[in-house]
Amino acid sequence: MNDRAIIHYSEIALKGNNRAFFEKTLLFNIQKQSKGFYNKIRRISGRLIAEFEPGVEEELAGSLKKIFGIHHFEFGFETEAEMENMKKEVLKIFKEPHPSSFKVSASRSEKNYPFDSMDIEKELGGVIHEGLHIPVSLSHPESELSVEVVEGRAYFTVNRIEGAGGLPVGCSGKVVSLLSGGFDSPVATIRMMKRGCLPVLVHFHSYPYTTRDSIEKVKKLAEIISTYSPIALRLILIPFADIQRKITEIFSSKFRIIAYRRWMLWMAERIATNNSARALVTGDSVGQVSSQTIENIDTISEIVSLPVLRPLVGYDKDEIIGLSKQYGLYQTSQKPFDDCCSLFVEGSPATKTRIEDIKNIEKDRFDELARMAEEALSKAEIN
Ligand code: ATP
Ligand code: MG
Repeated sequence: MNDRAIIHYSEIALKGNNRAFFEKTLLFNIQKQSKGFYNKIRRISGRLIAEFEPGVEEELAGSLKKIFGIHHFEFGFETEAEMENMKKEVLKIFKEPHPSSFKVSASRSEKNYPFDSMDIEKELGGVIHEGLHIPVSLSHPESELSVEVVEGRAYFTVNRIEGAGGLPVGCSGKVVSLLSGGFDSPVATIRMMKRGCLPVLVHFHSYPYTTRDSIEKVKKLAEIISTYSPIALRLILIPFADIQRKITEIFSSKFRIIAYRRWMLWMAERIATNNSARALVTGDSVGQVSSQTIENIDTISEIVSLPVLRPLVGYDKDEIIGLSKQYGLYQTSQKPFDDCCSLFVEGSPATKTRIEDIKNIEKDRFDELARMAEEALSKAEIN
């Protein structure tokens, strides 16, 4: 019966202190996200070994698949690395019905172990072939048995399961992610988590001009995003309607979306400063809608000095939808909602704004808008 998970992480570019920090963060995240599915976890020779009660494999696999930083993992068992003992134990690995063909891949961490990896493969492959009458196939085996000899113990596992890849959430620091109710920003947030960022989620709503349903939808999306995180993510809900009304007084309709976005970023930057976050994240993709032309992206970002990361900038909608499905967001994102940004906007927005034009319109009213933005921030609801 399987009672061990061997967890491998990608080691590329991990050197010195970075590597120790990566390993510590990954271990912490597994302890949080896979809690209850295993009893003990330890690190040996660049991998993690989790011990679990037989029978919880499926649940454990489900949780491990959502942990960034894991390259792949396998289930199996552990025995003493003495050859005669290994020959006895190896016969237990293939369950009925047996695979139509197999292959053994061995590795050993200690050079003073009396057998090299080829010897191990030959010895154990021979035992399985003779004992269970399963043919060997080196090029296209149905099942691959991996044997790792590490620190006097042997780990037998079959069939690797791909992990989520990337870096453990938290090891790249904090970001503030602007989360709308659409498809893009939830995917953008998870992509940044995959690069090790821990996001603080911020949503701007126009309640009571729009219904509470939009807020509930964003809360649900935040819950789904949190399943990829070692800790429940903070969602900050900010009332935006008063500022939108003020923007309506200042800007003609074609510039309003640009102004909304600028002030969203302005507030997000304030939140970032208060939360020691070093960047902002949005779900923009070039050319997807008129506010996402390169000119408008430039005009919008000008109001902040923190970097604005846009991980979906070069993605097509189809690719984003594919990721939305993969991450379990699609069912929720597709529900209709009132987008705050269409409030008080008629006709099409300007596609090629110039920073100077927008700043000229805004300049005498900047302090007034900033005051209102501060007030909105003070009324934020934190979930
Ligand atoms: P999404 O699918 O994420 O809503 P979109 O393609 O609809 O994106 P826009 O609505 O133009 O694009 O929004 C661009 C980005 O601005 C969003 O991806 C999100 O990061 C941010 N944003 C838009 N509206 C809000 C909001 N109400 N609250 C927080 N962020 C928002
Ligand atoms: Mg949107």
